[in-house]
Amino acid sequence: MAEFVYFNGEFLPKEQATIPLYDHGFLYGDGIFEGIRVYGGRVFELEPHVSRLLAGARALHFPLGELDEAAATEAILATCRKNDHQNGYIRVNLTRGTGLGLDPKHIEPKVNFMVATRQLALYPPELYEKGLDMITCSTRIPSPDAIDARIKCTGKYINNILAKMEANRVGAGEGIMLNQQGYVAEATGDNVFILRGDVVSTPHPSAGCLKGITRGVAIKLATEQLGLRVVEENLTLFDLYSADECFLTGTAAEIIPAVSLDERKIGTGKPGPITAKLVEAFRAYTKTTGTAF
Ligand code: PMP
Repeated sequence: MAEFVYFNGEFLPKEQATIPLYDHGFLYGDGIFEGIRVYGGRVFELEPHVSRLLAGARALHFPLGELDEAAATEAILATCRKNDHQNGYIRVNLTRGTGLGLDPKHIEPKVNFMVATRQLALYPPELYEKGLDMITCSTRIPSPDAIDARIKCTGKYINNILAKMEANRVGAGEGIMLNQQGYVAEATGDNVFILRGDVVSTPHPSAGCLKGITRGVAIKLATEQLGLRVVEENLTLFDLYSADECFLTGTAAEIIPAVSLDERKIGTGKPGPITAKLVEAFRAYTKTTGTAF
């Protein structure tokens, strides 16, 4: 079946959809994006994704015009209806607009807005059984007075890409990125959690991590369903090395155990029992929530 992409108010076959060459996202990385999951024909956590997208766009002062939460939600749901990917991945990209030159004064004041969906390519199941080996990356996240990590802007991702390449180079499944003070911020595409006793800890977003939507769900499930205490605090590499369990959260990875960091085993070096319970709770949760399209 042909796949369609939504672009600035119309649907185009995926192969025919293009962005203008002077798109500011293309020229300067001046854009924002979201990755969203569809489980069983329902969009997972749609409202927080749309609100993060638009909060970022407003912080970057994009010329949004008529594009607000309701319009973005409708465009996303309409694209889902059109492509009917029952278990899929939605990609939303928004750029400042079209115009050559750095100065936004020279841009036509109208954002470029894309929604694409595709059937999901799942991570290999053995990763969840074995857990991820991780390294600490030398590429750090930018200081929050440069760009706030809570804004999911495309330009910032060059850092994450470089960090991911560091991890790839040594065959690690993920890389931990530190902030400018040396505290743990996040993995290259996921948030990080540790478990010590019955306390779950994760960096506070002010440490420089994305305020992940899956992170929010994991906190809720850990607290409400598993009765654990969850703390947002500064974490050092020592905290990760000496944790009982460690896991990462993200839209694509969901909740995935991490079993080593820089060749140190975390806990037993196997996925931990609490992480396994949380993975189970998360999978059950995805079956009961979401916005039907
Ligand atoms: N941190 C980074 C750098 C990410 O790219 C992602 C994936 N979007 C996450 C954390 C996890 O966020 P979410 O749970 O909203 O996908």
